[in-house]
Amino acid sequence: SLAIALLTQDLRVHDNPVLHAAHAAADQVVPLFVLDPDIAAAGFAAPNRAAFLADCLTDLDASLRPLGGRLVLRRGPAAPATARLAAELDAASVHVAAGVSAFAHRREQALRAALGERLHVHDGSLTVVVPGAVTPAGKDHYAVFTPYHRAWSQAPRRTVHRPPKALRTPEGIASEPVPTARPESPALPPGGERAGRRRWRRYDLDRYAGLHDDLAADGTSRLSPYLHFGCLSAAELAADAHRHGGDGAEAFVRQLAWRDFHHQVLAARPRAAHHAYRDRGDHWLPEDDEECAAWRAGRTGFPLVDAGMRQLAHEGWMHNRARLVTASFLAKTLYRDWRIGARHFLRLLVDGDLANNQLNWQWVAGTGTDTRPNRVLNPLAQADRLDPDGAYVRRWVPELAHIPGRAVHRPWLLAERPAGYPDPLVDPAALSDRLRGARGLD
Ligand code: FAD
Repeated sequence: SLAIALLTQDLRVHDNPVLHAAHAAADQVVPLFVLDPDIAAAGFAAPNRAAFLADCLTDLDASLRPLGGRLVLRRGPAAPATARLAAELDAASVHVAAGVSAFAHRREQALRAALGERLHVHDGSLTVVVPGAVTPAGKDHYAVFTPYHRAWSQAPRRTVHRPPKALRTPEGIASEPVPTARPESPALPPGGERAGRRRWRRYDLDRYAGLHDDLAADGTSRLSPYLHFGCLSAAELAADAHRHGGDGAEAFVRQLAWRDFHHQVLAARPRAAHHAYRDRGDHWLPEDDEECAAWRAGRTGFPLVDAGMRQLAHEGWMHNRARLVTASFLAKTLYRDWRIGARHFLRLLVDGDLANNQLNWQWVAGTGTDTRPNRVLNPLAQADRLDPDGAYVRRWVPELAHIPGRAVHRPWLLAERPAGYPDPLVDPAALSDRLRGARGLD
């Protein structure tokens, strides 16, 4: 018999519940990826992620071949393309991972309509703990992280699967070539499971505890793009980190819990991808004007904000703390609608992820799950705390590279203004009043 493993955000051979189930169900397995024009139409196939995805697909095929398998690529909306292949091959079953977005729900419905009983949807590919597996009494999801994390930490874990020993994919199945894509950012990491596993093996978890908030140290794992595309299994990372033990591993696993937290919110409230999760009657300015353009270009005149935005443009990635500061600056200092910022992040982030991006933006904007929605991050206080020596700013803002120490965070105080660097968009002297007036200062 033959089973199709329709792969989506699980582009790996290690610990892949979909591949595992297809392998257990049939003696021939066809790993399938569908290049879906609906994803491109929704703006999700941004060049940085398209380039990373191309690496992932090439890498997955290379990992399947020694097992006797092969990746089949097709085009089209996923459901009809999969149903066509199932008919062509007379497949007995089709296996796919459960998703959390409205798009994934619709895709699953369309697959169900086309394939009926032959469709098998598997939990556990995306997150450490399945969305909805832990819930507060009488509710369908957790809206606050701390109690979620407590319940999450005690939730049973599934077994981590080894890669299948052998996969037989029949010869002669027509397949599209891997599409080529030119990234927008010049310094993207290489995509794919093997690159992700290499990074994970080399990553020193013990450094995480002390350095994860230090912008210049760049001490976080940078595994987010590999997690987004499922080149790595979050469940496997959590199990490895648990075995490793120590404060660094614990702090790292807590971030995986944040990822799961946002996924379970989105699974329960798919609307929260584009609408306030908690409507507090905010009236953000809807204009996408020169101030937003300056923010996007990393020319706000606030060095830490600009450093973050330039790192994003260059690497398609930004440190978490810089994401918080730059997002807060747009949403709370410039009072712009968080969706303007979320859209820009999604255009560039190689880890750009509906659950993590939209819900982190809502968290910052105060329309999400932050229990202190009035919190505003002061970009200057944050700079002194997260980049005390100014090294992160000097790395990303060449106009300021000659300014030593933390003076780099306040170029307007220098006797000689740095050439080519803009004046601050908001009067720094009035910043505190503005923040206090807006929401209360943090
Ligand atoms: P590490 O610190 O090494 O953490 C390990 C993993 O935990 C990460 O790879 C990530 O999968 C997860 N993680 C860490 N922090 C968070 C968090 N706050 N929320 C959810 N998961 C987390 N993350 C994305 O993966 N995609 C996004 O589109 C995204 N957009 C964001 C937008 C804003 C405004 C903010 C404030 C945060 C966003 N994040 C997003 C969360 C976080 O910034 C990134 O996951 C993190 O910076 C990735 O770097 P890392 O892999 O080195 O993280």
